[in-house]
Amino acid sequence: MPGDTNTSEVLLLMGPPGAGKGTQAEKLARARGVRKLSTGDMLRAHVREGTELGRRAASIMEAGELVPDELIVAMVRSELQSMDPVRVLLDGFPRTPGQAEALDALLAEFEAPLTAAVEISVGEDELVRRVLRRSAQEGRSDDNEDTVRTRMEVYGRQTRPLLEYYRECGVLRRVDGVGPVDTVFGRITEVLP
Ligand code: AMP
Repeated sequence: MPGDTNTSEVLLLMGPPGAGKGTQAEKLARARGVRKLSTGDMLRAHVREGTELGRRAASIMEAGELVPDELIVAMVRSELQSMDPVRVLLDGFPRTPGQAEALDALLAEFEAPLTAAVEISVGEDELVRRVLRRSAQEGRSDDNEDTVRTRMEVYGRQTRPLLEYYRECGVLRRVDGVGPVDTVFGRITEVLP
């Protein structure tokens, strides 16, 4: 039952850079009583704190490429390990077939089946506009035009194919990501079990 804190819940929020995952993830995690885990936020914290992982990740992130699977999976594993039961919203993970496979193994190990994978769908022109606007507002250093295009391309090549995998598993829920934040949020809550 959703909201029952004795039961595991695992939600994935998927979609290209600029789809609004971060904003929706905050709201959704609060509404469902689960912890939000954003691998991008975790990596940025490592970079800020100058950890070993942060030093390895910084230039990769700056270029809009993906940090190696084993580093990301280890980071996610140590967070999931601390939850009993696992109640989590994953934002920005998995992003590669290897990460999706690793997630399946982790969820089997922690006996927490996937509740749903939500795809926030937004057309490409709108995405570029949004990311460049965010760049002006937040000054995220990987939000410049070249890097954005790389991140889109990386998404299309590495991450988009995962949607098909989750569709086949019967857990994919697709929502239109264009519109006011609350409208999109309403669409997401409607499609969740
Ligand atoms: P995000 O905030 O999710 O857009 O992530 C920002 C950057 O962090 C990405 O462009 C990647 O360089 C890196 N990153 C975040 N999550 C992952 C992941 N699951 N796998 C590999 N790299 C990641």
